[in-house]
Amino acid sequence: MSKEYYELLGVSEDASQDEIKKAYRKKAKKYHPDSNKDTADEEKFKKINKAYDVLSDEDKRKKYDRFGKQGVQGSSSRGQRRAANNFQDIFEQIFGGGGRRGRSREAQGENLKVQTTVSLEEAYNGVEKTFKVSRKSECEACSGSGAENGNTSTCSNCNGRGKVEQVQRTPLGRARQVVECPECSGTGDIPEEACTECSGSGITEKEETITVDIPEGVKDGQRLRVRGKGHTARNGNSGDLYVFVSVEPHDSLERRDSDLYTTVKIGVGDAALGTKITVPHPDSEIEVDVPSGTQPGQVMRVSGKGMPSGWGSGDLYVKVDVDIPSDLSVEQREVMEQLRETESSEKNFFETVKDFIS
Ligand SMILES: [Zn+2]
Ligand SMILES: [Zn+2]
Repeated sequence: MSKEYYELLGVSEDASQDEIKKAYRKKAKKYHPDSNKDTADEEKFKKINKAYDVLSDEDKRKKYDRFGKQGVQGSSSRGQRRAANNFQDIFEQIFGGGGRRGRSREAQGENLKVQTTVSLEEAYNGVEKTFKVSRKSECEACSGSGAENGNTSTCSNCNGRGKVEQVQRTPLGRARQVVECPECSGTGDIPEEACTECSGSGITEKEETITVDIPEGVKDGQRLRVRGKGHTARNGNSGDLYVFVSVEPHDSLERRDSDLYTTVKIGVGDAALGTKITVPHPDSEIEVDVPSGTQPGQVMRVSGKGMPSGWGSGDLYVKVDVDIPSDLSVEQREVMEQLRETESSEKNFFETVKDFIS
C-alpha cells in the first residue's frame, strides 16, 4: 500500500477529511514559498499540494490506496480544477483573499491557456503556431473608463484612491489588507453614464489571433509563457499566455531528453562486410557508415544529430538489427553452407564472408 502522500501530510492512513485538511493547511503554511523565508520550500510545497489533491478526493484516495501513484495519474481536468479551487479556498483562508502568493494586491489580468501539438520534425526545427483566443482587453470606445463620452465622477467609496482597507478574520488571526475598491474596480472613478460598448466594465472580450514561436528542441509537456498576452485587467495590467506543448510520438525515432534512438535492419552480408545506410532523422534522412563486422544489436552513436537543446544538440543512437534470412534461395543456401564449413577453420570470419560474397 502506498504511504508517501500520507507521510507528506503527516496523517495516518485512516485520517478523516477534516484531519487531512487541517494537516494540509499546516504544512502548506510552513512550506509555502512566500510564507516564511526559513522553511519555504517550493519543491516540498508542490509535493504537499499533490498529496492533498489526491487525499482530499475520496475517489482518488481510494485509487491511490489500491494502486499507488499510478492509480491517480492523469486525473480529469474537472478533478484538477476542483483541486485548484480547494487550494484557492485554503490559500484565501491562510493568506487572505486574492493575493495567493503574497504578491501585490494590484489587479492582475488573468492568464490565458492554450494547447498545441507539434510533430517531432517541428520540435526539431522550431515552428510558428497561431492561436485564436478570446481575450479581454481595454474597451476602445471608452478607453477603459467605462463611461459614455468619458464623463466620470470621483468614487465615493474610496474617495478616488481606488483602494480600500479591509480587515479579515483568518484561521491565523486577523489580517488587515488593502484591496481594490469594489465600487470602481480600482479606477477611483465612477462613470456618470455607463459605456454602451462594455456596459461600464471598461473591458471588452474579443477574438484575437496570436502567433507564438515554438522554439526548436521543445519538449513534450513543456509550458511556454508569452508575457502580456493574457487578459488585460481594468488597470491595464495584462496576464500571460501559457502555451502547453505536446510533441507527437514519431514512427521510427524515440526521444529521450535530447537524444534520439532508432533501429535499422540490415542484412547479414551488410553486417559482415560493412555498408552505408540511410537512417530517419527529424531534419532530413542522414547517411551512416556501418563498419564491417557489425554485430546484431550493436549501437552506433551519431554525435550532434539528436534534438537541439540549450547546451548544443543531443546525439542520435542507431541500433543495428541484423536480419537473418528465414527463407534462403538456393544460391544463398550454397553460400551459407560454404560459410558454415569455413567457420571451424582458422580463417577470419569476415575475410571469409568477403571472399564468398565478392
Ligand atoms: Zn467601454
Ligand atoms: Zn472606488
